[in-house]
Amino acid sequence: MNGYQVVTYAQRVVFGAGALDNLPDALADFGLKRAMLCTTPHLTANGHVARVQALLGDHLVVVFDQVEPHVPDYQLEECLALAEKYNIDSVIGLGGGSPIGMAKAVSLELEARRTGVARVVSKHPNDQPLIPTIAIPTTYAGSEMTPVYGVTRAQPDGSTRKVTVRDHKITPKLTLYDPLLTLNLPPSLTASTGINALAHCIESVYSATRNPLSTATALLGIRYITASLVRCFREPENMEARTLMFMGAHMGGTCLSSVLMGVHHGTCHVLGGTAGVPHGIANSIVLPHAIRYNADQLADLIAMAGEAMGIVRDGRTDLELAEATADSVYLLVSQLDVPQHLQEVGVPESLLPKLAENMLKSSAVQDNPKPVATLEDAMSILRAAW
Ligand code: NAD
Repeated sequence: MNGYQVVTYAQRVVFGAGALDNLPDALADFGLKRAMLCTTPHLTANGHVARVQALLGDHLVVVFDQVEPHVPDYQLEECLALAEKYNIDSVIGLGGGSPIGMAKAVSLELEARRTGVARVVSKHPNDQPLIPTIAIPTTYAGSEMTPVYGVTRAQPDGSTRKVTVRDHKITPKLTLYDPLLTLNLPPSLTASTGINALAHCIESVYSATRNPLSTATALLGIRYITASLVRCFREPENMEARTLMFMGAHMGGTCLSSVLMGVHHGTCHVLGGTAGVPHGIANSIVLPHAIRYNADQLADLIAMAGEAMGIVRDGRTDLELAEATADSVYLLVSQLDVPQHLQEVGVPESLLPKLAENMLKSSAVQDNPKPVATLEDAMSILRAAW
């Protein structure tokens, strides 16, 4: 590592059982009185929306609880129309990465409509949004910490494409991590979004733009997640495990917001976009193979991640430890009852060359510190995962 750059955002993060109760006071501190809530039907069904309504009373002026995965453009239009009609001054995302993404999209696009100024990407990390976003996560995906969202936009040829927006201003001003809200997260989502959080931490340890803060954060995240993910899966209401796992997700999201991801992240996006593999499932399948691909050139860094997982060095070289780390991740995933091979999720072997071609076009794949330069490099990962 030759020098480094660190960007941090002006955010208030509150973590702990009952953190949700901070919402009214935090809104009052920020001078916000007309919030919109974006969420999904599950969160209405399990009573979380009713709790937010009870806490905010008249300060919650509109609820949209139909957010679909990956923020479709037609739903963004619907939310913007509601936001304008109710003259909101803030937008809350409650749930996973999709409703939080919707809240960020409403914030930025409403600002452009209100000011009549086409969007100018903010240059300073402390630039403030007109309509702040508040994030209340209930999965481990990490969006609540990042300056990024994606909207799935219809293309002229009838296809759809996820368009990513990155802007300092999008980072939620307030993030409330309340582990009580995760006790009813189903085991399958616990597993898949939990591995997503682990992947954020592991790719941060070997990121091309890693820095001492991101490394420390990522290693602690790996420690927390390894100690808790299987317990959360088997005992969903275990508060101690849920708390550790959510802290791991916080660490993962913090890293995701500050350093470049690599071949794992890029491959998962290609599998989603080209083969329709759900994001969490793709994470569970690819992570051990991405680690193994990187093991020879990034052995010292991956060995560090392995030690954070609890692997004892026992006289082994960095390379041996890095390979043991890939094995350990595979073993961890195998305890979570999620698919571990691409063929299990219906990806035909004949599609691998197309996937490899798209991997080479992915910016995250290109950002991997060990080059993924040829179709054969990409195919070696896909064949191992197939
Ligand atoms: P998601 O938000 O799409 O939610 C998946 C499902 O989980 C939904 O059906 C939701 O209703 C349900 N759910 C969430 N919390 C629940 C709870 N407590 N109880 C019961 N059901 C619950 O999935 P996700 O994995 O959290 O996020 C994935 C999306 O977020 C993708 O679009 C991904 O690209 C994006 N993402 C963005 C960032 C970023 O930095 N911008 C980071 C991570 C993920």
